[in-house]
Amino acid sequence: MESSTRISVAVRMRPLLKEEQDQGHTNSKVFIDSGEKAIVVSSTDQKQQKKYFFDCVFDELTTQEELFNYTKIPELLKKVVQGFNATIFAYGQTGSGKTFTMEGYDYNSLKPIIKESDKQGLVPRVVHSLFSEIKTMPQNIEYTVYATYMQVYQEKIYDLLNPAQLKPNSAGLKMRWSKHDEFYVENLYVHPCYNATEVLTHFHAGLKNKVMASHNLNSASSRSHCILSLIIEGVDTEAGGIFSSKLQLVDLAGSERVSMTGNEGPALKESIEINKSLFTLRQVITTLSGNREGESAFVPYRDSKLTSLLKQSIGGNSYCLMIACLSPSDMYYDENISTLTYATKAN
Ligand code: ADP
Ligand code: MG
Repeated sequence: MESSTRISVAVRMRPLLKEEQDQGHTNSKVFIDSGEKAIVVSSTDQKQQKKYFFDCVFDELTTQEELFNYTKIPELLKKVVQGFNATIFAYGQTGSGKTFTMEGYDYNSLKPIIKESDKQGLVPRVVHSLFSEIKTMPQNIEYTVYATYMQVYQEKIYDLLNPAQLKPNSAGLKMRWSKHDEFYVENLYVHPCYNATEVLTHFHAGLKNKVMASHNLNSASSRSHCILSLIIEGVDTEAGGIFSSKLQLVDLAGSERVSMTGNEGPALKESIEINKSLFTLRQVITTLSGNREGESAFVPYRDSKLTSLLKQSIGGNSYCLMIACLSPSDMYYDENISTLTYATKAN
């Protein structure tokens, strides 16, 4: 059986925001070449160009629906319903559009925009599409989707579906190593769901709790990873078999490098933890993507909570989609290069 992870990498550049335009920001150096599926970056003196190639590239006019379809998420969900694991995650500096892409939710203004159908992010689209896919499966398989929603902040795991977990000074939940070589989180709320509305009701509750968590734990959402996990269980009522697959949707913490100077105490600790987990994630992906059949390279899942939690849905027989997000402004030139470099290594 083929056992390598199939990784595809998409890059999306968001539009310049109105406030950025008002402040005179421009984009003169990063261009999308849709034909070649490349991001073209000019050097600071504009004399040279470098091209970064990906599976898909998306310009600022790309709608949420186009992103969903062109990254082949409907096909990925067909695999999930057949028992394959999958991970979709958004990477990029704070403000580059990760949350917009994954959730379609404007965290900064605290306005949920998920009701406007055009703005709907990947999560509601994935959830609806997953249940439509389930409906096409043979009647003798009974499906249950179990939902959990966690936040990883400074290497601690918080349950976004359990407000009691999000009180000030909460110690977070413990992660344990099961006999089946999987990590699991102790006392995490797991909700069985039978339709899209049920999953999205929990997800929306989690979004509200995220706001509460940011007050109580002083954990800005941009500094934490949020993981919505869906375990899809199918029971064959005729043949008696049972299978399950795991789909995880991840809004990663901002990848920006906080300069060492002028950043002390908790903020410095935060950025060290974030850089460590994103670095480990890249190592894990690089190892998995180069891991040919028969070879068993060491994959450093245990080096961070994030990668431990993603192990099941990213390793082995999995499908992984990374969406790297870019902020177009010339102000973020260095951050964009760093995102493109990260995404290229994962490719
Ligand atoms: P991040 O989660 O990476 O910090 P956000 O998703 O919060 O970034 O996006 C930052 C701002 O840019 C938000 O106001 C968001 O609504 C806006 N934005 C992001 N991507 C897009 C897009 N593709 N089209 C329009 N606005 C966007
Ligand atoms: Mg965000």
